[in-house]
Amino acid sequence: MTDRSTDPLAAPASEPPAAPGAKRRAPVPKQKRPGPYRVPKREDRHGLLIVNTGDGKGKTTAALGLLLRATGRGMRVGMFQFMKSVAINGEHAAAERLGLEIELLGAGCTRGKHDTTQDRALAVEGWARCHAALAGGAFDILVFDELTFPLTWGWLDVTEVLAAIVARPTGTHVVVTGRDAHPALVVAADLVTEMRVVKHPYRDRGERGQPGIDW
Ligand code: ATP
Ligand code: MG
Repeated sequence: MTDRSTDPLAAPASEPPAAPGAKRRAPVPKQKRPGPYRVPKREDRHGLLIVNTGDGKGKTTAALGLLLRATGRGMRVGMFQFMKSVAINGEHAAAERLGLEIELLGAGCTRGKHDTTQDRALAVEGWARCHAALAGGAFDILVFDELTFPLTWGWLDVTEVLAAIVARPTGTHVVVTGRDAHPALVVAADLVTEMRVVKHPYRDRGERGQPGIDW
C-alpha cells in the first residue's frame, strides 16, 4: 500500500483523530451558483464576424450551438438558410420550441440544374431579407447559413454583402457558414474556423445521413 510519507497523493489510511474536546462538523461544500449575468449592452460589445468554412462536417451545427448558447443568455437570435426550401431538419422543430427564428430562403438543391435563374433570384431576394434584419438592429446574433455559395457563384456581389455586414449596428454578431468561403469574407472576418474532414461515413462508406446527426 502507498504511504503518504512517500506519496503525497495517496489516500489517508484513516480519518485523522479529532483534537480532544473539539466539535467536529462535516465540511459544507461551497455552493457555486452562477451569479446574475447580464449580456453587455450593444455599445459595450464587440460584434464579431464569424466564418465557419471548410469541407468537414460541423459548420451549420456549430452555428446552431452558438444560437442555443446565446438563447440561454436571453439574446435575440436568427438564422437565414440559403439553398434550403423545406423545414425538415431537427433544428427547425427545436427552433419552434426554443423561440429561435429560422427562415428558409432557397429552392432546394441546385446540383445538376441547368437553369438556375430562379435560384439566383431567390438568393438575391433572400439576401435582401438578411440585409433588412441586419440593418434593423433587432437581432443580437444573425446566422447566414450557406451564404458562401451564392457569393462564390457570383449570384450576390461580395463587395455589397460585405459592406452591409461591416455597416451593421454596433454589437451585432454575424455568423456565415458554408464551404469555400470567399477570400474577401475571410479577410473581413474576426473569427474563422475551417472544418477539415478526417473521416466521414458518407464519404468513406457511402452511408446516408442520420436524423439528429445530419438533419
Ligand atoms: P452540418 O449541417 O452537419 O453541420 P455542415 O454544415 O458542415 O454540416 P454542409 O456542407 O452544409 O456541412 O453539408 C451538410 C450535409 O453534408 C450534412 O448532412 C453533413 O453530414 C454532410 N457532410 C458534411 N461534410 C461532409 C463530407 N466531408 N463528406 C460527406 N458529407 C458531408
Ligand atoms: Mg451546412
